[in-house]
Amino acid sequence: MTASTHTDVAVIGGGPAGLQAALTLGRVHRDAVLFDDGTYRNATVSHMHNVVAHDGTPPADFRADARKQLTAYDTVSVREQRVESVEEADGLFRLYVADGTAVTARALVLATGVRDILPPVPGLDAMWGDLVAHCPFCHGHELSGQRVGILGTTIAPHLSGLLGRIASEIVVLTDGDAVPDGLPVGTIVRTERVVSAERHDGGVRVVLAGADGEPVPAGTTEQVAGLFVKPELSQSAPFAEQLGLELNASGAVRVDEFARSSRERVLCAGDMAHLPTYPMPMASVVAAAASGQLAASAAIMALTAR
Ligand SMILES: Cc1cc2nc3c(=O)[nH]c(=O)nc-3n(C[C@H](O)[C@H](O)[C@H](O)COP(=O)(O)OP(=O)(O)OC[C@H]3O[C@@H](n4cnc5c(N)ncnc54)[C@H](O)[C@@H]3O)c2cc1C
Repeated sequence: MTASTHTDVAVIGGGPAGLQAALTLGRVHRDAVLFDDGTYRNATVSHMHNVVAHDGTPPADFRADARKQLTAYDTVSVREQRVESVEEADGLFRLYVADGTAVTARALVLATGVRDILPPVPGLDAMWGDLVAHCPFCHGHELSGQRVGILGTTIAPHLSGLLGRIASEIVVLTDGDAVPDGLPVGTIVRTERVVSAERHDGGVRVVLAGADGEPVPAGTTEQVAGLFVKPELSQSAPFAEQLGLELNASGAVRVDEFARSSRERVLCAGDMAHLPTYPMPMASVVAAAASGQLAASAAIMALTAR
């Protein structure tokens, strides 16, 4: 028999979305349990940016401060454990935890985030969140006045526009695809296939394929201070699928203006969800925290109405 405890609201996720949701629940003395298995989207990032009052703060410090502040609220507890599965029965959500216990809750806030799947170029993973990034708002300013690379034709027009005032020079690597329209005048374009990328001289050395498709070191590399790529996003956790939540075309959970999913009393926040009018999640710390607050408020409203 599984040992089971009960709470008002279970929050799964200890990133900015889940932490803010737990804080909001604590402020009105709602019983809440937050689960965090320690797998954060920005785990490889040393300093986050574009976060008001925290520009340059290490993400781990931000989470630690949030955890510390949560200890002021007796009704909120944090469990550093993985939730394996969730089901709904008789109006309650039942969470099965990796340690073999279970928790039942009247409402559920999912804030489990997404995982980034990088383009299949050897070497990118080792530099992700450091010299290789996807978002100029997060990583652009640090590359001021330097030569910056963009890998991929779908993102090149948009990102080259954003980076135009920051970089001294922009190099678009098409990886064998046709040159896209809309690149600013002066953009350097390399159309060879990209073979690999590596740390070199404080930046990134991109190795391009020679005419015969083989890597040729001399003259077929591009040195840039930082490289922007387009990751594919996938849900970190299986709960949207287990609960049959409606998804957007992006693969993120579809929510309304109050963070409500297609299932009653299941609220979703952070990178894992967005309004259907958005093409993708806003994917920032501030946006995640804001949606966590909204999700917790909606959970409280749903419980108060019952
Ligand atoms: C390389 C990179 C750099 C970035 N830099 C910035 C930046 O400078 N500024 C900025 O604003 N944004 C930045 N972002 C975006 C930012 O990191 C995300 O928007 C933000 O972390 C989303 O918060 P979240 O709470 O939705 O998810 P996350 O922070 O990813 O948190 C997800 C939480 O869910 C938990 N979880 C998942 N599954 C389970 C499970 N089964 N059981 C228990 N817990 C589970 C995880 O352990 C984690 O606690 C960056 C992103 C990347 C990839």
